[in-house]
Amino acid sequence: MDAKTLLERVEADGVYLVSLQFTDIMGTIKSVTIPAGRLEEAVERGVWFDGSSIQGFARICEADMFLVPDPSTYRVLPWSVPDRLRARLLCDVHGPDGEPFEGDPRSVLKRAAQRAAQMGYIFNCGPELEFFLFNSDQGAGTRPVPHDVGGYFDFSPRDEAQIVRSDIVKALTAMGMDVETSHHEVAAGQHEIDFQYADAVTAADNAVSFKYTVKAVAAAHGLYASFMPKPVFGVNGSGMHVHQSLLDPGGENAFYDTHGQFKLSDIALQFIAGQIEHARALAAVVAPTVNSYKRLVPGYEAPVYICWAQINRSAMIRIPRYSPGREDSTRVELRCPDPSCNPYLAFAAMLEAGLDGIRNQLAPPSPVSDDVYEYSAEELESHGIDTLPGTLGDALEALEQDDTIRNALGDRAYQVFCRAKLAEWDEYRIQVTDWERERYLHML
Ligand code: GLU
Ligand code: MG
Repeated sequence: MDAKTLLERVEADGVYLVSLQFTDIMGTIKSVTIPAGRLEEAVERGVWFDGSSIQGFARICEADMFLVPDPSTYRVLPWSVPDRLRARLLCDVHGPDGEPFEGDPRSVLKRAAQRAAQMGYIFNCGPELEFFLFNSDQGAGTRPVPHDVGGYFDFSPRDEAQIVRSDIVKALTAMGMDVETSHHEVAAGQHEIDFQYADAVTAADNAVSFKYTVKAVAAAHGLYASFMPKPVFGVNGSGMHVHQSLLDPGGENAFYDTHGQFKLSDIALQFIAGQIEHARALAAVVAPTVNSYKRLVPGYEAPVYICWAQINRSAMIRIPRYSPGREDSTRVELRCPDPSCNPYLAFAAMLEAGLDGIRNQLAPPSPVSDDVYEYSAEELESHGIDTLPGTLGDALEALEQDDTIRNALGDRAYQVFCRAKLAEWDEYRIQVTDWERERYLHML
C-alpha cells in the first residue's frame, strides 16, 4: 500500500486515532498516538519522539528519534470503539541522522533478511504461539488460576474457553492474520492458535500483533492472557515453535529435495547444522527470560537436547511430515523459542545461525528417532548430543562467546540486550524463593 492509498483508507474507514507502534529490545510494544488528521504529515516526514526513555534506544544526549510508519501494516484495531476508531501502523525507528536506527529490532531483522537476500534467499517463518488464559488479573501475579479445565484438543461446544478462542480468531483475522488452526493445548487454560507463515519481517510483525490482540480480547472477557513460558509448575509451558524455510531466487522452496532424507535438500541440512552449532547462544535470544529455562526441562514436550528428528517432539528441531505434492510445505521446526522473546531479534538470530551452516557447508549429526528424554547421560554422550542451557545465565555466557549470533543482533542491540538480561539474571540469582523456605527452613 502506498501513502496515498493509506490516507484514503484511513478516511474511508472513519479512523479517528492512529497508533504508531514499534518494539523495544525486549519486544514490548510501544506506541505514539496521533489524530488521523496528522497522518499525512507523519507519513511524509515521520514522527519525532523521545527515544531516551525507551530501553535500548537513544542515549540522553541524542534523545530525538523518529518513527517512519510502514503503510503495509495498516490495520483498524477490531476492539476499538466505533466513535473513536483506532488504527495501528508498525514503524521503523530512525535516528536523528535520518538513518534506520541499528538498535531497532525491526531493523535488525531487516538487515538479516537483506544478508539472506544477498545469498539469494527469502526466510519464511510460521510461529506457533501458545498461551494461557487465567481468571482476571487479580492475584494472577502470584497464583494464576487457569480459566478452564480442558485438555489437549478438547472440544466442548458450550465451553466458555471455546467462545473466547473464537473471538480471538475473529480479531486476529481482522488484524490481517490468516488463521489456520486453533486448539486447546495440553494444560488447563492453555491454547494455541496458528496463522499462516510469511517472510520473517511480516511474521514477526504478526507475532507481536498476535500477543496484544489475544490480550485485548481476553481482557474484554474479564480474563488475563499470558505468554509467560512456564506460568504453572508441573504442567506444560508455552512455546513459540517456529516453522522455517528458505525460498530460492526462483521462488521455490530451497529446503525441498525429492531424493533427500525426509525430503530435505542439502541446503536444509546445512541450515539445521547451523542452528545446532549455535543452539546454546541462540537460546539466549529465542528463550530470553529466567522463566524460559523452567520450560526447557524434560517431560513437557519442550526441548532440552540439541538434536533433530522427524516427528519426535523431544528434539530441538523437528521435521514435520511431508505432505505429498506439497513441496512448499517442507520445513524445519525449531522448538526452543518461547513467546517471551522479541520475535524480530529471535528470527534474525535463527536466520544467521542457519545461514552460517550454509556458508560453511556444515553437516548435521544423524537425526534421532528415540524419545531423547529417556536417554541416560551415557547414551547422550555416545550420540554426541549436547544440552540446551539450563539457565538464562548459562545461555548468556554462550551468547557472549558466539560471534555469529552476536553479529546477527549487531553491536548496539547486542550490548543493550546483554546488559538488560545480565541484570535480570543477577536479580533473580539472589532471590530467596518459597521453594527454598519450604525445603530448608525446618530441615536445617
Ligand atoms: N507446550 C509445548 C512446549 O512448551 C509444546 C506442545 C506441542 O508440541 O504443541 O513447547
Ligand atoms: Mg502446541
